[in-house]
Amino acid sequence: MSDTTRRTGSCLCGGVHFVVNGQPSRVGLCHCKDCRKAGGSVYSAFAIWPRDAFETSGEVASYGTRSFCPTCGSRVAWVDDNEAEVMLGSLDVAPTDLAPQYELWTGRRETWLHALPDAEQFEHDRPQAQDVDPPAPRPLSDAVARD
Ligand SMILES: [Zn+2]
Ligand SMILES: [Zn+2]
Repeated sequence: MSDTTRRTGSCLCGGVHFVVNGQPSRVGLCHCKDCRKAGGSVYSAFAIWPRDAFETSGEVASYGTRSFCPTCGSRVAWVDDNEAEVMLGSLDVAPTDLAPQYELWTGRRETWLHALPDAEQFEHDRPQAQDVDPPAPRPLSDAVARD
């Protein structure tokens, strides 16, 4: 069985292009400080594909694990040996047909944003191992009821 879905994306100036084949392994939102600082927006929305589903062209620069176009500064995919993480906003078609399945670092979510009703909520990063119990979904009131 093969899913022939093919999505394309690029940085703002078009110097970096990429293609992702098939459906992503997972789609998420992150409200963490690093994502906020790196993107300048209050959260990042991303999708993760297996490494071999991702093809790219063009030169990228990097800072830590984050890659960006050296000309326009747009964030582009972050790739390791196993996976490629693509910012949803860098895909060419808007809106995308992808919806986040989970949210990370929900304690840093802006108070005027609401938890996505169908997304699993994590206080910090997503647990990697299956034997770790995921934290219980946080009620929305947790995000605003701070003293
Ligand atoms: Zn660019
Ligand atoms: Zn983050």
